Order: sequence, then C-alpha cells, then structure tokens
Amino acid sequence: MTNPGFCILPKPPAASLYWKAVRGIVTKRDALRSVRTPGVLQEYKNGRGIIGALAATAWRPRDRTYEVLCYRDPSRWGTARSLDPDSVKEMDRRFPSTFNNYDYDCNRVVIAPHSPCPVLFGIRGDDATLLPAAMRTVRGELPASWLVFETNQGTDDHVLPSARLEPRTTVGVERRVSGMPRSIRGGHVIVDMGGLPAAAYEPSKGFRNTIRALRPGDRVRVVGSIRDSPRTLNIEKLLVLALADDVRKQANPLCPTCGKRAKSTGKMGAFRCARCRRLFPRSLAVVENVSRLLAPGWYEPPVGSRRHLSKPLKRLVRAS
Ligand SMILES: [Zn+2]
Repeated sequence: MTNPGFCILPKPPAASLYWKAVRGIVTKRDALRSVRTPGVLQEYKNGRGIIGALAATAWRPRDRTYEVLCYRDPSRWGTARSLDPDSVKEMDRRFPSTFNNYDYDCNRVVIAPHSPCPVLFGIRGDDATLLPAAMRTVRGELPASWLVFETNQGTDDHVLPSARLEPRTTVGVERRVSGMPRSIRGGHVIVDMGGLPAAAYEPSKGFRNTIRALRPGDRVRVVGSIRDSPRTLNIEKLLVLALADDVRKQANPLCPTCGKRAKSTGKMGAFRCARCRRLFPRSLAVVENVSRLLAPGWYEPPVGSRRHLSKPLKRLVRAS
C-alpha cells in the first residue's frame, strides 16, 4: 500500500461503488462523489487509497471470508521472516476451512509476504473462530499482535456476470476450444477459444498441463481477465464441461483394388492410391480414439499464482 487513505462515515456509500471498484476502475473523483454525508476523509501521498477505503465501506457482503493478520515486533521490521514450512503444512491439514496456505506444486509457504512490511503472515479461511488456533499452529517468529479481518478474498466478486469482453475486467464465459494448445516463448501456453486466445502463463506451472491437454471441440467455462493488447484472456479457472473425441490417424486408407495403403495428397487431407490413382477422402483414414488426460470438472492454478480475489475450488466445492 503505497498511497494509503482512510475514511470514517456515519453512512456508507451506495453498494454500487463497491461493485464498480472490484470489477472495474473507479476514479478518485467518482469515489469522492459517492460520499453522501460529512465524515472524516484522510489521504496520504497521491491519495488514491481513499478509493479503496470508500469502496470497502460500500461493501455489503454476499459472500465473505476472513483473514487473521499477525504483525511483527517493530525491532524485526525489514529482516527476514523465519517460519517453519512443515508447521504451515500441518496447519493447512488441520484446518480445512483455511485456504491458499501452502503451494504444494512449488513447495513454498504462501501465507507470508516478501516485502519489508510489518505483517508476519496472514491466514485466510471461512471460519473466523478457528483462525487464531490456526495461527498458533505456525511455528517460527512469534507475532507481536494479531487481528481478524472480514474480507472479499477468494469470493470471485471481481468476476463480471456478463460475457462482454472489456479490457481490464474479469469474466466467466462458456466457449468451445477451437484449436490445439501451443507453447510460446517464456513457457506460456495459449489455446484458441472460438476466436479468443486464452493464456496460462509460466508462473501457473502445472496448470499449463491442463491447458495443454485441451483439444478442439472441448466445451469449457473459463474465468479470466481480459488483456487489451493483444486481446487475450488470462485464465484464472477452468471448468471442463464436455470433452470432444481426440482421434489420431493410425493409417492411410487401404485401396480395395490394389491392397495398398494410399498416399497423402496434401490437399484437404485426401489420399490417392499410388498404383491405380484412385482418390479417398480424409474420412476413410484409419483412426483411433486417444484417451483423454482430462476429465470434466474444475481446474485452477497452484496456490502461489492465484489472484487474491479468485475463489479457490476448495471454497467452490464447499458451497455446492
Ligand atoms: Zn489402387
């Protein structure tokens, strides 16, 4: 938080301010205009923090999570944090109502920031009453103090219900996969979804294998943010609705007259017998069904590369 701000208001702004801010962009002017009663508004530096502060007061939760934030003794600020990774895994197992604690794909602790800020770590979860006990399971540097916050993390509040592909918004859309996934420089994987290229970037690690396993004709629901240029959807989550057959050519058609395998002509995938010149359409090739590596269902990137607002599948499953 480089430009903090806070507000104290007797009456919160309209809820629409929260939804605009979490799903799009709100100017400072518009945020200030939403204040309906006199109160205390305090800005620091460029003052943009006041937008988030006002939007937070406008929040009427439909879904909510909690986070216990614990703070370091000031004498430790700026020094390396020492937390026992095994105790974080233990906490993750013992408190299933918490989420995004440990990245098992990359073997790293996700609860602690890497900045020189005063926060030691934060544990997110669905049950506020269990968070202090979860916190005490973590071994290492002792927190100087702690506080439980009500938050919109892991709620998917940022996902627009409409399928309009506006840049810098996050949408959930149903699409048909229309091309083979391809890897590009930097280790990113791109797959075309009916004219919209969808991307899984390198930091999403093993999630890229899910995207690589998609085949043309698969039907998916994809949640992701729209990048303007080049117009791309950055995949946050993927629901495989239906899998297409993945067929692979095993052999060219057999010419019934000559008993020879026809050769490919290169034109529209047609084949021609080298001896009698007879043509065979592509549909006569001998194909086999390749077993699919994916099953219908939800897929998400590993903990470390998730956005804070993105609802983890753990919560999605719990809710249904
Ligand atoms: Zn022939």
